[in-house]
Amino acid sequence: MKLVKTKDELRQSVAKLDGSVALVMTMGALHEGHLSLVHAAKEAADHVVVSIFVNPLQFAPNEDFDAYPRTLEADLALLAPAGVDLVFAPEETAIYPRMPLVRIDPGPVAKILEGKTRPTHFAGVLQIVHKVFNLVRPDLAFFGQKDAQQLALIRTMVDDLDMPLEIRAVPIKREADGLAMSSRNSYLSAAERKDALTLSRALVRGREKALTGANVTQIEAAVRDELAACSGVKIDYVELVDPATFLALAPDHHGSALIVLAAWVGNTRLIDNCEVQVD
Ligand code: AMP
Repeated sequence: MKLVKTKDELRQSVAKLDGSVALVMTMGALHEGHLSLVHAAKEAADHVVVSIFVNPLQFAPNEDFDAYPRTLEADLALLAPAGVDLVFAPEETAIYPRMPLVRIDPGPVAKILEGKTRPTHFAGVLQIVHKVFNLVRPDLAFFGQKDAQQLALIRTMVDDLDMPLEIRAVPIKREADGLAMSSRNSYLSAAERKDALTLSRALVRGREKALTGANVTQIEAAVRDELAACSGVKIDYVELVDPATFLALAPDHHGSALIVLAAWVGNTRLIDNCEVQVD
């Protein structure tokens, strides 16, 4: 496994790869969730390139850019046995020698849900994703269903700009007790870690409610009630949306729906989601 830190080194190393290339983009502080993307990539392509970069453009000034865990040595130790060919872990100045003037406008879906609380987030995400796609020119890129709205926006960008690669989604990897794996879980105290379980429990509650034949409004209420029952959890949003468009569903909607939620557990903001059938 080769580690490269500059765009030139990356381009040169990618050019030497013979066969298909799959890309996995991360911000590091890697866990089993990231590794499930790497395993899927490894199965699908001849070579796997992983990027590790905490992208300043996707953090607002009041967010956790400085505090975000940076654990490069441990990350490399996880990636090497997973059969990764190339790791791109640039410094900020290597990626942005100056702040980019030409920006991606992610469109209306970037303004709802996550985008309501984080209005500049998805523009920053698409900027770095587009850039790394151009640098690596992969055949495939793997993203987690954990960040479902991000995944939808990346699919839209690839479609709208006719980018020559295929996007594949990987299911959410959870801890044994249900908590969705996240680099931000490391911020949680032991008590908060317990409270954080409310998020996945609320989704299970929503799924159970859906199985009883409940409608969109009733399912959403069940999820909210479960979250509200924990005093350590503050709801940011709970909504049932169309899994492809992310638009809110009519109360009489039938068919598949994505329950998406975000909540604060102490000072840590966590997200989770799951798909349900509304019948
Ligand atoms: P991040 O390092 O948080 O930017 O995540 C990098 C990639 O890993 C994104 O495509 C995420 O959706 C994905 N990812 C993060 N956590 C998980 C998880 N628990 N299960 C599956 N994919 C994940």
